[in-house]
Amino acid sequence: MAPVCRPASKAPHLCATPFCRNSHAKGRNVCSKCHTRWYRETHPINYTYHYLRVRARRRGIEFLLTLDEFIKFCLATNYIALKGRFKNDASIDRIREGEPYQADNIQLLTVGNNVAKRRAWEAVQRKIQSSVAPENPF
Ligand SMILES: [Zn+2]
Repeated sequence: MAPVCRPASKAPHLCATPFCRNSHAKGRNVCSKCHTRWYRETHPINYTYHYLRVRARRRGIEFLLTLDEFIKFCLATNYIALKGRFKNDASIDRIREGEPYQADNIQLLTVGNNVAKRRAWEAVQRKIQSSVAPENPF
């Protein structure tokens, strides 16, 4: 739980974080948004690991990476400090597309290179699909 003291002037149903106007959840002192922000800041590797796993599941990609393996990867590559959403920020790339996230299948790649790699792979997949799709008239 985020270590925040409630100012005396704030209504008891509101989040204890200064300037936050959200209601806090039952049994908590802060709202879920403030709690997530606090967790992301104090546990950057754990947060990134869990979020990577959530995104992989949403995309239907198998996720076999353990937290220990991810911590080793982060310490070896300095991923946490370099990660981001812009072209030259670091991202996690699956070396062999179509295979799950696992210790021997991830590498650091810039976001720009990762997108270029994905588009090239999708183009190949489309080509394979289009060559298979038309029915053979003979
Ligand atoms: Zn809040």
